Amino acid sequence: MSIEVTLLGTGSPIPNPDRAGPATLVRAGDATVLVDCGRGVVMRLVGAGVLPVGLTAVLLTHLHSDHITDLNDIVTTHWVMATEPTPLAVYGPPGTQAVIDALLAMLGPDQQYRLDHHADLTEPPQVEVTEVEPGDSFTVGDATVIVGATDHRPVTPTVGFRISHGGESAVLAGDTVPCETLDELCSGADLYVQTVIRADLVQLLPNARIQDILDYHSTVEQAAQTAARAGVGTLVLTHYVPPLVPGQEDEWRALAAAHFDGPIVLGDDLTRIAAAQ
Ligand SMILES: [Zn+2]
Ligand SMILES: [Zn+2]
Repeated sequence: MSIEVTLLGTGSPIPNPDRAGPATLVRAGDATVLVDCGRGVVMRLVGAGVLPVGLTAVLLTHLHSDHITDLNDIVTTHWVMATEPTPLAVYGPPGTQAVIDALLAMLGPDQQYRLDHHADLTEPPQVEVTEVEPGDSFTVGDATVIVGATDHRPVTPTVGFRISHGGESAVLAGDTVPCETLDELCSGADLYVQTVIRADLVQLLPNARIQDILDYHSTVEQAAQTAARAGVGTLVLTHYVPPLVPGQEDEWRALAAAHFDGPIVLGDDLTRIAAAQ
């Protein structure tokens, strides 16, 4: 097994007691990569057997609050549990540095309390931000990451990531409607993880603000169509809007299966998927 994906949080901005916010763990070679940091991410990360200090890097697909709301917990827990000053590597679209600067400012009082109280804690948290653009590539441990453009307009910039190691690859698309650059990023990938909504169910909700989400997310069917066009191995669905009710997995899967012949994975938080199945 070269690449393994764990759905840490399969929820969305809609609060749900059983689904943490959007976050996905990717183990690729010697790299342990966290993609997005939604509500409850540290609890789920530990549930997957990883402490924040064990992360090689954090990747952010975009700066929507549901994808970064608990990044501050990652930063602080990484800082206080490291036995020596250890930078946290964060990759995200342009604007990420400003968010990190503001996040660290918010944590200023806490940093001072802890620096004053712990004699062996001598430096504030170090966060090394790399802002990435579509077409960029970089390495995390011995894994390679390619950055692709996604389309979540009017939210911009947004990116997806293709993480590769040992001939296997996983795409973490983030929030996006189908687009050519997403197809390119996904082309031939072993795993394609897509955040999705059920348009048929969302349309039933009598709330204008919820109706607004229809035009900038992939539906389950669209994710399956992307998977088919790109020839991916396994389609993995997450970020369920509305929250997936346990027992209805087959109903969601059937909507995707009408458009994609390969394996389709849906599940609860902490569902694990290996690239080679
Ligand atoms: Zn979003
Ligand atoms: Zn989202």
